Amino acid sequence: MGYHHDHPYRVFVKETPRGGRGRIVMNIKTITHGRYKTNTYVVDDGVSGEALLIDPTENPEGCIAIADSAGLRITAIVSTHSHFDHVGGVAGVKERLGVPFMIGAQAVESLRQEPARAHVDGVDIADPPEPDRLLKEGDLVDIGGLRFHVLDTPGHWTGDICLYEPSAKAVFTGDSLHRGEIGRYNKGCNEAELVRSIQTKLMTLPDETVVYSGHGPVTTIGEERRDNRGLKGLPLLK
Ligand SMILES: [Zn+2]
Repeated sequence: MGYHHDHPYRVFVKETPRGGRGRIVMNIKTITHGRYKTNTYVVDDGVSGEALLIDPTENPEGCIAIADSAGLRITAIVSTHSHFDHVGGVAGVKERLGVPFMIGAQAVESLRQEPARAHVDGVDIADPPEPDRLLKEGDLVDIGGLRFHVLDTPGHWTGDICLYEPSAKAVFTGDSLHRGEIGRYNKGCNEAELVRSIQTKLMTLPDETVVYSGHGPVTTIGEERRDNRGLKGLPLLK
């Protein structure tokens, strides 16, 4: 394993049960850890015992232990994009559990380059495995009774995707959209493309959709439509 444990983990797990009568349940465990306080999510339907692991940044053992202690079996890993703080834990989880790893089809090239890129930033990650499934707009990822719709949202980096679960009214946005800000990134972010992705794929979702992003707290599409600094004054906002 190539992860250098040269900074302490800050693991913070938060349980967010969603749903209610007649609505699909979505349990979300948020693990906030690593240098950039990245949010890793363990998501399940409260019934099947299957869980989706989103953006394991590091500490793969910790991610597995959190699922284990809740009686959940991680059945797939999805990374919203290839930045090392969203893929650093993939190799470790895959090695232990052998479950499929999925990422946006356009992110494969940057994924291969990520260990070298991370190294320049002073972080060493294990080489991410080759993806088992390449995701693109309109694809579906089924985990128990949950059905995640893949949205192509390039701009923050290459081949970014978001995962939208319409029944649970939830969207996992990676670094495309954060609370109050958009996922600007000074090295290689295409801001015009990012804004277009947010406008056409995210701001078209219902206001009540809860946004779970790659960094920072939970928000909603409605709140961001009103208050997001990065989107102020732009057209197409309802
Ligand atoms: Zn990123």
